[in-house]
Amino acid sequence: MDPHIHVAQRVVEAGAGFRSAVTSLLGVVPDTPGLVTTGCALRVPYAMTSPRPESVTCLACREHAHREYLRFADQVENLSSLPNLAISGIDSTQAAEAVARLRDLAKRFAGSD
Ligand SMILES: [Zn+2]
Repeated sequence: MDPHIHVAQRVVEAGAGFRSAVTSLLGVVPDTPGLVTTGCALRVPYAMTSPRPESVTCLACREHAHREYLRFADQVENLSSLPNLAISGIDSTQAAEAVARLRDLAKRFAGSD
C-alpha cells in the first residue's frame, strides 16, 4: 500500500470552494469519485488525497499543486483584468485577494522552509 497523501490532478477544482460554486450554479452536488487521478498520475482512493498543503506527503504531488495554483492564480488575474467582469459578481479587489490566496497556497505546496 502507498502510504502517501496525494493531491487530485485537478487540485484547484477539487477544493471545497469549487464544489460549493458548482452546487450553487447547478443546484446539484457533484459526485465524489471513488478513485481519483493524482498529480503524480496514480489512481488512489479519494480519502488518500487532500487539498491542504500541510497534509500532502507526496513530493511529486506537492510540485504539481504548486504549478497548478500558480497557473490558476494567473488565470484569475487575467480574467479580472477584463472590462466586463460580470462573472459571479466579483470585483477587482476580491479578485486580487483571491490571486494572493492562490499564490500563498502555491507557496505552501512548494514547502519553502
Ligand atoms: Zn502523488
